[in-house]
Amino acid sequence: MRSSFIPFSKPAISELEIQAVAEVLRSGWITTGPKTAEFEAAFRGYCNAEGAVALCSATAGMHLLLAALGIGPGDEVITPSMTWVSTVNLIVLAGAKPVFADIDRDTLMVSAETIAPLITDHTRLIIPVHFAGAALDMDPLRRLASKKNIHLAEDAAHAVGTEYHGEKIGRHGSAIFSFHPIKDMTCGEGGMFCSDDSDLVERVRRLKFHGLGVDAYDRTIQGRSPQAEVLEPGFKYNLTDMAAVIGLGQLGRLDRFIEKRALLARRYQALLADVDEILPLAVPSYPMRHAWHLFIVRLDIERAGMSRDTFMTELKKRNIGTGLHFKAVHMQKYYRETLRLPDGALPATEWNSERICSLPLFPDMALEDVDSVVAAIKKVLA
Ligand SMILES: *Cc1c(COP(=O)(O)O)cnc(C)c1O
Repeated sequence: MRSSFIPFSKPAISELEIQAVAEVLRSGWITTGPKTAEFEAAFRGYCNAEGAVALCSATAGMHLLLAALGIGPGDEVITPSMTWVSTVNLIVLAGAKPVFADIDRDTLMVSAETIAPLITDHTRLIIPVHFAGAALDMDPLRRLASKKNIHLAEDAAHAVGTEYHGEKIGRHGSAIFSFHPIKDMTCGEGGMFCSDDSDLVERVRRLKFHGLGVDAYDRTIQGRSPQAEVLEPGFKYNLTDMAAVIGLGQLGRLDRFIEKRALLARRYQALLADVDEILPLAVPSYPMRHAWHLFIVRLDIERAGMSRDTFMTELKKRNIGTGLHFKAVHMQKYYRETLRLPDGALPATEWNSERICSLPLFPDMALEDVDSVVAAIKKVLA
């Protein structure tokens, strides 16, 4: 058994980021300012995106997107139930109706085929989720959305550095990234809205800071229009310079992080190939670069004779941390009671919700750590 606990995720923070934060703290300007602008430019460059707005979280980005599109009562938004709750919470809080698309059983991702039948005259927005670092099959989704004249915004919280047909997620359309500590790169907390729709970018930029046309830094230091006025009521979702420099350091090492994650993932795949009770996710066959945000497996609960929750508890007793991404939204208390979807409404989502489990995966993990995780899994199943 491992002598020390291995978490399922751990941020790879270096002295570089620690130094950079200290410099910002000493500089006299710690909130949104030059470092945030530098981070936005660097991220735009990395993704080859046309516009990028740094935010305090991806959830904030989702809220701003819904507000910018004026989504409200009477509107429907299509998204998977196999996602983080934030998206659905915001749809409901906006007074709109979430409509859940089922997922592919082995990639956990929605597709144009699962979404098309759900479109009605009330559908205003589709939010598909790139899952675990793999890319959605975007071409059919884009064709469907443009044919029906419906907005498409990608939840790219898992897809920093992911590529689809040789291009980064964020290059085309609108995508929202997260820099929460478990994601492939972090700012502590943070997010980025990228879009090739310049009107939408400007709207999000304005709404993220009280509905003013400019940031405090622009007014105070750059001397731009000190009497900035509220152009429309907005929120307070800006990223601080303290967080932005962490993001700059992380972005500089992101490709190395992803290479290491891929190496660890390949070792998991090789070592788990002969464990009959464990089924890793499938990797889509269209051209893409996987960012390996998560290494998700499904437990064959019938064959193993134990629930996924018991499996996770048994691993924890053996010093192995695991995660759950995600418990389907429609199966959580509030949504069970308010949406009342019948059992089996989303078969692949429900099947996976009972069986998925995320194994430890982070850049500072050693290959031998993978061996010890797999050894523990075999012990638990024996
Ligand atoms: C993490 C995550 C989010 C939310 O990101 P925050 O930055 O924490 O707001 C949204 N969607 C998915 C799929 C996520 O994994």
